[in-house]
Amino acid sequence: MKAEEKKVIYTLLKTADAYECGFTRPQFAGEPEFADDAETTMSFSGSTGEEPGPDMTNESSPSITQNGGLSLEELNAKILRCTRCGLARTRNNVVPGMGVEHPDVLVIGEGPGHDEDMQGLPFVGKAGFLLDKMLAAIGLDRKTNCYIANIVKCRPPENRNPMPDEQAACFSFLETQIHILKPKMILCMGKIAIEKLLGQEIAITQKHGEFFEYNGIPVMPTYHPSALLRNEQLKRPAWEDLKKFKRRLDEIKAN
Ligand code: SF4
Repeated sequence: MKAEEKKVIYTLLKTADAYECGFTRPQFAGEPEFADDAETTMSFSGSTGEEPGPDMTNESSPSITQNGGLSLEELNAKILRCTRCGLARTRNNVVPGMGVEHPDVLVIGEGPGHDEDMQGLPFVGKAGFLLDKMLAAIGLDRKTNCYIANIVKCRPPENRNPMPDEQAACFSFLETQIHILKPKMILCMGKIAIEKLLGQEIAITQKHGEFFEYNGIPVMPTYHPSALLRNEQLKRPAWEDLKKFKRRLDEIKAN
C-alpha cells in the first residue's frame, strides 16, 4: 500500500471518530509518518491504477476534524437521541448528566437506577442523597462546582451491571463530556466507573483512595454510595478517601 493511501484511510478513521466523539481524541492528535510498503500490488482506485481516485485528503472538508467540537448542550441533545445500544429499548429516560459547565470535580457513576431512569437525572435516589451528603462534606455540590455523569446513560434493566458492549457503545459520550467540562479532578464511584475510565482492572477494595490519571487529570476511585448503604463499615474508609481527595483539590486550586 502506498503512503498516500494509508494517509487517506487514517484521515477517514480520524474523521469518523471525531464525528462520533464531537472532538479529536488525543490518540488522533498530530499525524503519523506514512511510508510506501515494499511491494504495491493494488491501486486505491480499484481499477487499473492509472486513474487517480477522488482527492479525499482535503484537510479543509470535514470541519469536525479541526477540533471545533460540540457544546455541552449539543452533546446532551445527541445523547438524548441515542439508540446505539440495547438499553435504548428498555429505558424510560436518558440520563446524560447534571451539574455546572466548568466544574472543579466530575463525579462518575456506573449507570442510572430506577429513580434516575424515571426522572432523567443522575444520582437522585437513596444513593444520590448519600452522594450529595458525601460531596457536601468536602465542599462540593452539583449546583455550584460539580458535574455528575455515568459510564452508561440509560438504565440497565433490574439494575444489573452494564455489559461491556453497552459500556463501549456509550463511552465516547463520557470522553466528550470530559473534553468539554475540563474538570480539575475526577471522582469515580465504584469499580465499573474507574475500570472503564482507565481501561484496566482495578480492585476497588485495595485501590480506593489512590490517585490515578486520565489525560492528565487526577482521578480517584472510591466506594459507590450504594455499597455504603449496603455495608456501613465502608463509610469510614470512604470518608478517608474524600478527605484525601479534597486535600489534592485544594492544592490544585491554590496553584
Ligand atoms: Fe446510547 Fe448510551 Fe443509552 Fe446505550 S446507554 S442507548 S449508548 S446513550
